[in-house]
Amino acid sequence: MTIEQQINELRRTLNLYNYKYYVENNPAVSDFEFDTLLRQLQELEAANPQFADPNSPTARVGSDLTSEFQSVEHTFPMLSLSNTYSLEELGEWIDRNEKEVGQTEYVCELKFDGTAISLTYENGRLLRAVTRGDGSRGDDVTANVRTIRSVPLVLNGDDYPDFFEIRGEIFMPYSSFERLNAERAEAGEQLFANPRNAAAGTLKQQQSQVVARRGLDCTLYQLAGNKLPCDTHSGNLDAARRWGFKISEHTAICSSREEIFNYINYWDVERKRLPFPTDGIVIKVNRDSVRRTLGYTSKAPKWAVAYKFKAEQATTRLLSIDYQVGRTGAITPVANLEPVQLAGTTVKRATLHNADQIELLDIRIGDMVYVEKGGEIIPKITGIDLSARQADSQPLEYITHCPECGATLVRYEGEAKHYCPNQNGCRPQILGRIVHFIRRKAMNIESLGEETVELLFANNLLHNIADLYDIKAEQIATLPRLGEKSAENIIQSINNSRQVPFHRVLFALGIRFVGETTAKYLAEHFRSLDAIQSASREELTEAEEVGEKIADAIIEYFADERNQQIIGRLREAGLQLTAKERTKASNALEGLTFVISGSFANHSRDELKALIDANGGKNLAAVSANTSYLLAGDKIGPAKLQKANKLGIKIISEDEFIAMIGSNDTLPTSTVEVVAPNEVKEEEPTPQSTPQPIQGSLF
Ligand code: NAD
Repeated sequence: MTIEQQINELRRTLNLYNYKYYVENNPAVSDFEFDTLLRQLQELEAANPQFADPNSPTARVGSDLTSEFQSVEHTFPMLSLSNTYSLEELGEWIDRNEKEVGQTEYVCELKFDGTAISLTYENGRLLRAVTRGDGSRGDDVTANVRTIRSVPLVLNGDDYPDFFEIRGEIFMPYSSFERLNAERAEAGEQLFANPRNAAAGTLKQQQSQVVARRGLDCTLYQLAGNKLPCDTHSGNLDAARRWGFKISEHTAICSSREEIFNYINYWDVERKRLPFPTDGIVIKVNRDSVRRTLGYTSKAPKWAVAYKFKAEQATTRLLSIDYQVGRTGAITPVANLEPVQLAGTTVKRATLHNADQIELLDIRIGDMVYVEKGGEIIPKITGIDLSARQADSQPLEYITHCPECGATLVRYEGEAKHYCPNQNGCRPQILGRIVHFIRRKAMNIESLGEETVELLFANNLLHNIADLYDIKAEQIATLPRLGEKSAENIIQSINNSRQVPFHRVLFALGIRFVGETTAKYLAEHFRSLDAIQSASREELTEAEEVGEKIADAIIEYFADERNQQIIGRLREAGLQLTAKERTKASNALEGLTFVISGSFANHSRDELKALIDANGGKNLAAVSANTSYLLAGDKIGPAKLQKANKLGIKIISEDEFIAMIGSNDTLPTSTVEVVAPNEVKEEEPTPQSTPQPIQGSLF
């Protein structure tokens, strides 16, 4: 390969990795590997300046822009940071600075591992939140950011500039990440590889309600604007803290190289105890005037650098691959490894996610592989030591048939995983569905337990969830390790499960992608299994959080004759297939009818419907002469609006509606519990005023 070809090949690979990382939130390689390739490209370009290109990934920040959000031009470019994994290189950076500006003060900060955000405030109120995008333009994600409780919508005090920007990181604490992935596993959805991807993916959600529930957090680390209180970074951070921003308490001013290195050594160990992910330390010059002297490259400031921690890594041999079949039929390849010590534990197995991942890594049995444990609990294979590859190794052929039942695997459009479609004939799927059904959060028949389910299955007493309601105590009592007492307990909890509320029954059915929360939204919206079953695809997507993918999965579930039979038997067994009547809050809306359209700042549409019901009003799907009010939110359907105007129907806002029900604006108990967005009652933001030249050095 010529040098030019090498450069082009590296650019192509890095652009692909950037796309997978920033847009798909599904990185193909580890950060270390990415940074090593980027460094190679930098060196080649430096030695061969005739091939320089301003569009090279070495000269531009990786872009997170998507077509799903409105893009907004940044007033000041949002750059990246140059990084190093070596203390020696960090020392050289300090030397270079010293040569140029003499001894200077630095601020050391944790490098939060999330996604960058720029917040603009006008007259103390949040005006806009924009992602880094391609550095010049970012995606406007204001509605989503408003749901993050640590982002102040209105500032404290009165000494903030009229108009300023503050930049920081939106991240997902480990606790939220684990909860989210557990929910996704339950619903048979693909898991997020790490908290960074989960944070970045969540921020680009179309529904703010979803964002509100996922427990994102935000820390701010850079202020800029006119009339800032200080000409040092640390002084401005103190002011921002007073105004109500969440500023890291682990920031330190360092006057010497030794202090910087001590800070790094301390946090290299201590960061493992932090409840949120970090991937390094950022070292920044403190004084604005010194920052201005040092300046910028096209991609990053010269006055700051990131020292990145290498994720803990080990090398070991890949012995074989198992293919696990989940309850939804999803196939997960799992690597069996020669046992190796990593971050205090012995690792024998690692996830490989899916066929794409295997293909991308070109992973082969017998390879020496790099195993990493980042913020994630499950170790993963991040690369291969190609120099140790055996000469006779063969590319891996992904399985085409289910390892459990032999059925031909299928791949649904847009999904990375393969599936075994033999839902009713594949043992792990049958058992998985029953085990899911009895879980505490579903039908709460946990006294039965996974082992007993397997025993009953093996003894031909249990083939599907409906069989549970036909089982007799005597049949259980005769099984090994079970006596009369435990048989009675099991029958008792099966009987109790007949009273489990409808939304949990719906979740327990195990419909693909219908997790606990989606089941609640569906139950709240449709109120009965029959209504869900007879809803069209379009009607299904009217329920909160239900997109086309979920709607299709629901339709597919009900289209299966065997599922119909099971539902029939569950109905006969007396399970709750209808939501309980809502408790009345008042009769304030007696005799009035409402049509709801658009999205609302403080309530979901289903919450508003529930409030109408609970206060004696009636919900209608379409505007007609019988409609009393059109309750209109943002992005209201134009047809509804037109019709309401034509018929002279009164159009009211969310606030006017809430005023109509007075103090009865709390949801009755049977409705869905939804995390309220981080909303403060406030006026509509005024349009942006023209910003003045900026003080403070941004990136
Ligand atoms: P970066 O993440 O290395 O550093 C810049 C970012 O750090 C800022 O935009 C900001 O979001 C964040 N940050 C966190 N705490 C901060 C603090 N206290 N002060 C300032 N900034 C702080 O750079 P990047 O441009 O966002 O991403 C490039 C890096 O991402 C690469 O070097 C690589 O490690 C990784 N990456 C990996 C892949 C992959 O496939 N694995 C692909 C693309 C990029």
